[in-house]
Amino acid sequence: MGVERVDYSSDQEYYQALNQEAAYYQEQQRKETNSDYRIEDVVGEFEVIDITNQTLLEKLKEEEISKCTRCGLCKNRTNIVCGRGEFKSPKVMFIGEAPGKEEDESGKPFVGSAGIILETLIEEAFNFETKDSYYLTNILKCRPPENRTPNSEEIKSCLSYLEREIYVLKPDYIVCLGNTSAKTIFTLFGLENELRPISEIHGNSYTKKVCLQSASKNIIVPMYHPAAGLYHPELRSVMLADMQRLANEIAYQNLPF
Ligand code: SF4
Repeated sequence: MGVERVDYSSDQEYYQALNQEAAYYQEQQRKETNSDYRIEDVVGEFEVIDITNQTLLEKLKEEEISKCTRCGLCKNRTNIVCGRGEFKSPKVMFIGEAPGKEEDESGKPFVGSAGIILETLIEEAFNFETKDSYYLTNILKCRPPENRTPNSEEIKSCLSYLEREIYVLKPDYIVCLGNTSAKTIFTLFGLENELRPISEIHGNSYTKKVCLQSASKNIIVPMYHPAAGLYHPELRSVMLADMQRLANEIAYQNLPF
């Protein structure tokens, strides 16, 4: 199994294929239990959803991304870097540009200095219950040399993996961190006309009703990349204000974590 977006002429066909893939893995999972009982009967519906999300993304990682040679970034990677965090319907998915040195070495996203800033902002803006209900990932799964900005071909080659993360996890909010992430996500969601430099649109919310069927609400929030806080400490108060505005918006909409 494995769904390549380029094989499908329309979004509808693409998402039908994703659904078939999800059904296939659910059936495989059911067989692997080696039991007459359905998983739902044993552990409950919500836990099945949780297991399925994680299973789907682990299979995506192990069976496809770890072997991926679609672009030249595969040559110098130490590890592929997939998402981490809450797999069971996270409220917020934070999407950065690409792994850096520490991420490449550890195989985990946002574990370097910028990641520490991001998680500090999240902790300061959200209360204790909310802080575990987010998911962190990048557009690219391999590190560009010297942390250069990825080119359009590399982004195009890797984007279907991110789309599938979104499709499986269905976050309420998608936060794109930095200009490259904002440009990619705005384009993916058909919001090109709203795109401006991150210095102009950071902290705003954009809603798109018809696009990825995967995202239940399709609320897109661009923010500065946390690395900006390293090089421009004066931006940290702006970044915290954006994060607090997001936390308030979620609280106002009564979306408990
Ligand atoms: S960056 Fe993405 S498309 Fe390129 S090799 Fe890595 S996983 Fe594949």
